[in-house]
Amino acid sequence: MKKERINAFLRALEKQGAEAAVLAKPSNVRWLSGFTGEGLLVVVAGAASVVTDFRYVEAAQREAPGCAVRSISGGVTHEAIAAELLKAAGVKTAAFEDDVLTVRQMQRLEQAAEGIHFAPAKTRPEALRAVKDQEEIDAIERACAITCAAFERILAVIRPGVTERAVAFALENEMRALGAEGTAFPTIVAAGANGSLPHAVPGDTAIASGMLVTMDFGARVDGYCADLTRTVAVGQPDALQRRVYDAVLEAHLRAMDAIAPGACGRDVDAIARAYFKTCGWETEFGHSLGHGVGLDIHEEPRLSMRSTDVLEAGNVVTDEPGIYLPGQCGCRIEDSVLVTRDGCRSLTPAAKELIIL
Ligand code: ZN
Ligand code: ZN
Repeated sequence: MKKERINAFLRALEKQGAEAAVLAKPSNVRWLSGFTGEGLLVVVAGAASVVTDFRYVEAAQREAPGCAVRSISGGVTHEAIAAELLKAAGVKTAAFEDDVLTVRQMQRLEQAAEGIHFAPAKTRPEALRAVKDQEEIDAIERACAITCAAFERILAVIRPGVTERAVAFALENEMRALGAEGTAFPTIVAAGANGSLPHAVPGDTAIASGMLVTMDFGARVDGYCADLTRTVAVGQPDALQRRVYDAVLEAHLRAMDAIAPGACGRDVDAIARAYFKTCGWETEFGHSLGHGVGLDIHEEPRLSMRSTDVLEAGNVVTDEPGIYLPGQCGCRIEDSVLVTRDGCRSLTPAAKELIIL
């Protein structure tokens, strides 16, 4: 059990008049308890209980010391046990994650916990998780170091005739070989015209000379994610490809300069967007500039056109502008960046000048 985190969460709940919470989102459950399996976490009166099933009982006891572990059996549901724990503690109002709990789970909870009021959590664990402690930063740094090392190794693999799928497989293989427990998200490799799809799925397209190849990938270490994108050229890039690359790099660097405590998410996003406008590409950057990275690959805070999130030391965010020209090419450059007390530091210092293979 992560006592300090649970207490911070309970203090936040108190402000909305809730004394307890029932949580289902795996990253929230893990952050508050350490438990990585399936089930619910019931937080009440400074204590936490994992409600799970036979498959995870031993893991829960090992991963979440200090938490009570309850196992469903004989047709008793997770929600019935959660309700029992709330009733036993005399809870009147319990918070839940309204973006996670299913309608069915909610109905079961309300049926079993008659008399207890359920309210969406106003402060969600995600808000507290946005500022990372040293242990979390260390895990993200290790994930980023593996990701950057895999990028260096993949350069020897990329050449005409190799498919996107083969590059993606090799990248994932390298990350595992370097010590990753898995990938943080499905690897993106987009060659040539496929590069205009920001979330392209690697397919059978063979890399050819004259293509830009965008790779977006990340390792996972101790549950924590890394997120890196690099675009390389195979053969000499033409004038348009060169112009796109230079613009994306400049937007990326300008935004990075603005990442610091106190900066507002939408203002950092606006810096990259304004620069692209001066290049004549106002609509070709159609996604947001960045997102928080942690136990989830996309989390708070956000760097987007509408984000009012204010950056704090200990946030880890991405800086990932891109230009996408349908039918022609695409380019994105992305770092995972730690907000420090006096600015920021990239955790993914892989080379950014255009690599021509
Ligand atoms: Zn990415
Ligand atoms: Zn990203």
